[in-house]
Parts: sequence; structure tokens; C-alpha cells
Amino acid sequence: MDLKQYVTIVPDFPKPGIQFKDITTIMDKGEVYKYATDQIVNYAREKKIDVVVGPEARGFIIGCPVAYALGVGFVPVRKEGKLPREVIRVEYGLEYGKDVLTMHKDAIKPGQRVLITDDLLATGGTIEATIKLVEQLGGVVAGIAFLIELTYLEGREKLKGYDILTLMQF
Ligand code: AMP
Repeated sequence: MDLKQYVTIVPDFPKPGIQFKDITTIMDKGEVYKYATDQIVNYAREKKIDVVVGPEARGFIIGCPVAYALGVGFVPVRKEGKLPREVIRVEYGLEYGKDVLTMHKDAIKPGQRVLITDDLLATGGTIEATIKLVEQLGGVVAGIAFLIELTYLEGREKLKGYDILTLMQF
């Protein structure tokens, strides 16, 4: 299946100059969403994953069906102030200013093999921060899977040394 034909490219969203890759036109078609999810499930099986981790909100859309198919848990990574119990936190740089991601302190057991998922690899900043959270708890990042990679932003450079699957490249 040629997944790229189901991505809608929206020019100048959310601001001028950005070519937004809208994946909702993958998700709203059952067989296309399933096909994309199955590719990541196969990858996760090879990597012998114990748990799936994804940053809000689109990391959930990708990661939760993978976790369900594997029969493993899903751990949400969220913006500050959203998780109700004790968290660990990491600050990361945005184009302007900083943001914070958090994860429940007891969400991952040392040695667990983790798959990190998100919809899109751009600069890699979000996933670099997510890796820090996983590793702080002793998790082993066994793989990272995205639907889309924006190769011209060279996010892979930030994630050097980690195994990465991307289903589409732009
Ligand atoms: P980054 O931390 O730069 O790798 O990107 C963070 C998040 O921003 C990705 O997970 C996407 O959800 C979103 N994002 C960045 N660029 C785009 C784009 N061109 N189209 C759609 N989403 C994007």
C-alpha cells in the first residue's frame, strides 16, 4: 500500500511556511490505519518490546493500537501538569523557548525494552526528550517508530545510535 497518498499536506499551517502533514486522513480509513499500525507491530515484534511509550497527543494514536496488538502496556508522556501522580520531568528546547515533558515515576521498570512511537520525526527534539525520560527510569530504548520522517530536518542526527523505523519520508 502506498501510504503517502493518504497523507494530506496542508500548506501554511499552523503558520506561514510550514507544510503540515495531516495524518487524520490515514486514521479515518480503517484498512489504511491498520496497515500502517501493522508495519509498526511487526517491527516491535522483532525488537521484543515489553512496553510502548508515546508523547501526547499523536504519539498515543500511533502507539496505543501497537501496544494493544502486542498485548503489552502503553505509557503516556505528557506536558507538565497533566499526570496525576509523582513524575519525572525533562525540559527541551523549542523554536521559541522551552517546554517540559513528564512521565509517571513508576511507569517503566529497569531493563524493560521500550518502543517509542510518534506520528512524525521533524527536528527530533520531542523524541530526544522522551528518550531521556525512558532512560532515567532504566528502560532500554529498543526501537523508535514514526509514520513520517521529514528527512531535510535531519532529526536522525539527534537520535544517533538508536534503531529507527519510518514508514514514509518527505
Ligand atoms: P520534533 O520534536 O521537531 O521532531 O517534532 C515534534 C512534533 O511536531 C512531531 O511529533 C509532530 O507531531 C509535529 N510536527 C512537526 N512538524 C510537523 C509537520 N510539518 N507536520 C505535522 N506535524 C509536525
